[in-house]
Amino acid sequence: MFDSLLIANRGEIACRIIKTCRRLGIRTVAVYSDADRDARHVRLADEAVHLGPPPAAESYLVIGKILDAARRTAAAAIHPGYGFLSESPAFARAVRDAGLVFVGPPPEAMERLGGKDSAKALLEPAGVPLVPGYHGADQDDRRLLAEAERIGFPLLIKATAGGGGKGMRKVERAADFAELLAACRREAKAAFGDDRVLLERYIERPRHVEVQVFADRYGQAVHLFERDCTLQRRHQKIIEEAPAPGLPDEVRAALGRAATEAALAAAYENAGTVEFLLDREGRFYFIEMNTRLQVEHPVTEAITGLDLVEWQLRIAAGEPLPLRQDAIRAKGHAFEARLYAEDPAKGFLPSIGTLRTLRLPEGLADVRVDTGVEEGDPVTPFYDPMIAKIIAWGPDRTAALERLAEALDATQVAGVTTNLGFLRAAAASPAFRTMEIDTGWLDREGTEELAREPAPSPDTLLLAALATVALSLARKRPPPVPGTDWTSPWHRRDAWRLNQTPRGLVRLLVGQELTIVTVEGTGERFTARLGEHALAARCGVADGRVWIEAEGRRRAFPAALVGHTLVLTLDDRRHSFTLEDGRFFARGEEEDQGLFTAPMPGKVTKLLVAPGDRVRKGQPLAVLEAMKMESRFEAPRDGIVAAIHVREGEQVEEGTVLLDLASAEEAAAS
Ligand code: ADP
Repeated sequence: MFDSLLIANRGEIACRIIKTCRRLGIRTVAVYSDADRDARHVRLADEAVHLGPPPAAESYLVIGKILDAARRTAAAAIHPGYGFLSESPAFARAVRDAGLVFVGPPPEAMERLGGKDSAKALLEPAGVPLVPGYHGADQDDRRLLAEAERIGFPLLIKATAGGGGKGMRKVERAADFAELLAACRREAKAAFGDDRVLLERYIERPRHVEVQVFADRYGQAVHLFERDCTLQRRHQKIIEEAPAPGLPDEVRAALGRAATEAALAAAYENAGTVEFLLDREGRFYFIEMNTRLQVEHPVTEAITGLDLVEWQLRIAAGEPLPLRQDAIRAKGHAFEARLYAEDPAKGFLPSIGTLRTLRLPEGLADVRVDTGVEEGDPVTPFYDPMIAKIIAWGPDRTAALERLAEALDATQVAGVTTNLGFLRAAAASPAFRTMEIDTGWLDREGTEELAREPAPSPDTLLLAALATVALSLARKRPPPVPGTDWTSPWHRRDAWRLNQTPRGLVRLLVGQELTIVTVEGTGERFTARLGEHALAARCGVADGRVWIEAEGRRRAFPAALVGHTLVLTLDDRRHSFTLEDGRFFARGEEEDQGLFTAPMPGKVTKLLVAPGDRVRKGQPLAVLEAMKMESRFEAPRDGIVAAIHVREGEQVEEGTVLLDLASAEEAAAS
């Protein structure tokens, strides 16, 4: 085994790899861009080398700079993590040519399998079942359209170099083909520098099942069972699990065999994931092979008890596979939820900011958290805005899912908007619980619907007010800084106690709507009032949960005060309330004035309207590219485009006014 490793990556995966290295006594070298100078992976590594400016193209993606860093620190091997250069044969070759060990497959195997097209060409003769489609070299528009008509609609256009669902477009009918082909190529070019595409028949309501394989240089391959990644939003994985639930034994065995055969056919080495779609009839089709460690590898680790990074390092160092197939066992069930700084209410756009509060469910039994950030760290616009992966294990699927829900309830983030409420609701949805879902289920179900916080009932508002009181009183804290005293009496225990008629107001802001609940009481006994609704209860805090006892019924639920926000989970839905401090939010006012602003920094790739155009609510107005993804922005209401403030190709900052939308009356009056 080598004694030192450079990790050509950042974030949680760099931290994850460092963890295994520490256990194995391997010296670690981190690399970082200007944006990551103080990042957690830099803090954890034994050494760190600066690469360059924040954009990945000038830092994490520059092969020369990474090799240079390895030379300067005398690192013996390089682990690429996932993303960035992890699937670049040019990088793997350059590492090898520099006399270093690349922790991954040889570049030749990567070339054979890395492209969705070449992988199919290789695996078809090996008898691995493929989705019917076209993966030829001829990329002429007319040829592609002819092939599309042969395959039939609906079909998918995919980027040959694709990953993360980028570029992928579903085409329902021939008339849309040209436009969607252009969009796929644009996005593929921007994300991968390669605009080749392939076509696949659209499999109706499939599940996504993938098999973890490992192969060594001595011609042996094994699988570490499968993962189910069916819960997806626009082809991106949200919650993954292992094993795939409800598979007949013979299908499970056939999947494992097909994946191992794929690895052998490709003379593969190291860790790989063979992805399949499973149709309603239980038939499976190969879609692609990922020639790296996957984001969701921890669920496999949770059920097998194996350290996949350790396996990668051993195999890269020339050791044979650590275990034979019959010695690899799985136990129980595991889930992983991907916690992101993103705003479900704004089409899941990244939410940039500082992690003012970050409480992760570390220390819960059978829960693992992989993260690359700590409280106080920024979420920058330069990289994937993942905050953490939350992994929960249980003896069976139901127990594991319950544990995941608990772990999500114990997670609190302030400073950026997250998908926590969305994850929590998705994990609790009956269809997911019973696994009656397919890869398109979330999108059909309406992700916005699921992500939206339910409007709180008067009962919920009363509980929220009492929870605020209970949490405020339970909190130990220094006296408030003068002038920041925003929660009236709860902040001042002494004043509260001295008060003859203890009475306070809890001002709960849900969106733009303010609710004022009156609370009277002392000690543990309080009465909350809202209009004609009232709740007299005993309440307190125990084991991180708030308990409220009223009318002979005791309810305990997860609740926390995070900065100026109260977060609680009731009946499997997360609610959050801002404890109003007198300020309203600028964004809401801007929207009311009809200004259409960029929700995040990015590049305007397309303007879809011109001044004077009459638009309807929901109509796409512009396409913005940020984080190498294209997003369409839609009219928040009916109106007339009064003015446009940006040009196509222009780089804009968050909050830049893109265009003015006048109402029909305003337009008529002018
Ligand atoms: P990427 O490499 O961009 O992630 P994949 O080929 O792995 O793309 O596909 C990602 C997801 O897209 C799959 O998990 C599945 O949900 C959906 N998908 C891919 N191919 C098909 C298909 N032929 N029919 C239906 N859905 C598909």
